[in-house]
Amino acid sequence: MAKKSLGYVELEWECPFCGTRNPGTAAKCSNCGAPQPEDVKFQQAAKEEIVTDQKKIEAAKVGPDIICPYCGTRNPAGATTCSNCMGDLTDAARRQSGQVLGAFQDKEAPDVKCPFCGTMNPATAVRCSNCNGLLQKPDGETAVPDAPKKKRGVPVFLIVILIGLLCLCGILAVMFLRTEDVTGSVQSVNWTRSIAIEALGPVERSDWADQIPADASVGSCSERVRRTQANPAPNSVEVCGTPYTVDTGTGLGEVVQDCEYQVYDDFCEYTVTEWVEVDTAQISGADLNPIWPQTSLSGDQRTGAADESYEVVFSSDGERYTYTTSSLEEFLQFTPGSEWTLAVNSFGGVVDVKP
Ligand SMILES: [Zn+2]
Ligand SMILES: [Zn+2]
Ligand SMILES: [Zn+2]
Repeated sequence: MAKKSLGYVELEWECPFCGTRNPGTAAKCSNCGAPQPEDVKFQQAAKEEIVTDQKKIEAAKVGPDIICPYCGTRNPAGATTCSNCMGDLTDAARRQSGQVLGAFQDKEAPDVKCPFCGTMNPATAVRCSNCNGLLQKPDGETAVPDAPKKKRGVPVFLIVILIGLLCLCGILAVMFLRTEDVTGSVQSVNWTRSIAIEALGPVERSDWADQIPADASVGSCSERVRRTQANPAPNSVEVCGTPYTVDTGTGLGEVVQDCEYQVYDDFCEYTVTEWVEVDTAQISGADLNPIWPQTSLSGDQRTGAADESYEVVFSSDGERYTYTTSSLEEFLQFTPGSEWTLAVNSFGGVVDVKP
């Protein structure tokens, strides 16, 4: 996903001594004059506006500020000596940056009530217009948009359902696998054999235009999103997520948007001529002499897949057990009246037969 910059906004910091909210680029508190603390946490303003001051923008682009290790003064990126104490800044730490602060707040925030006199003030106001009391930043900060954070947990109820299904499968598997030996004699045998009859006919399918076989007749097509990618391509549409503000470590935040390109392509319905099953010839019997059905084909037909299925019914102490197989060799051994040892599972199904 490509990141798109929409510009920079002034962040805010709260004075730890008097609680006044100050612009992110202000080095000193506008109320008490205290310096911006070293461990300052920048916040989003109640209403963010794109900064047009080129000096500030250039400073934000250069990188996070450098904090003087001797006096704590913030210096712009690239400075080698502290502007306050002339200390060496070569090994000084840079202010942390890159954190996503929240969704870009370009909408007018609701008014805030003065905690002292109850007067309503604009959300961006630092002091009450009536009593000059300090105003709090309004609550209800917009959540960080989905785009930058990828992690999303699996809901608990899904895990519970999954565990339940696993248990059920386990119980069923045990019931299938646990068998009991029963002696039974062959009571009756049945066989069924079938042969598919196929003819050439039209088959409707759909696929991307460049995947359709050359001999197909193409029907209606429509444009669909085939893939998404970071870079523009012919016949693509740019799709962007909610803009959000990132701390640049300079007192300004960068407003960015995660964008990608949805590439459209033709998706078509088409008709091809293929062999399709039109009929089935089937024959069955109740002896040990199975035969294949006769097929009478017309000129444009052919025979398709053949299928054989054999069934043996055993009786044991008044109970009947049915065993099926597709092996002719095995079927031919079940002479009526002969005795066999059957492995029977919890559902009464015959899993195995031994002489
Ligand atoms: Zn202050
Ligand atoms: Zn210094
Ligand atoms: Zn007030």
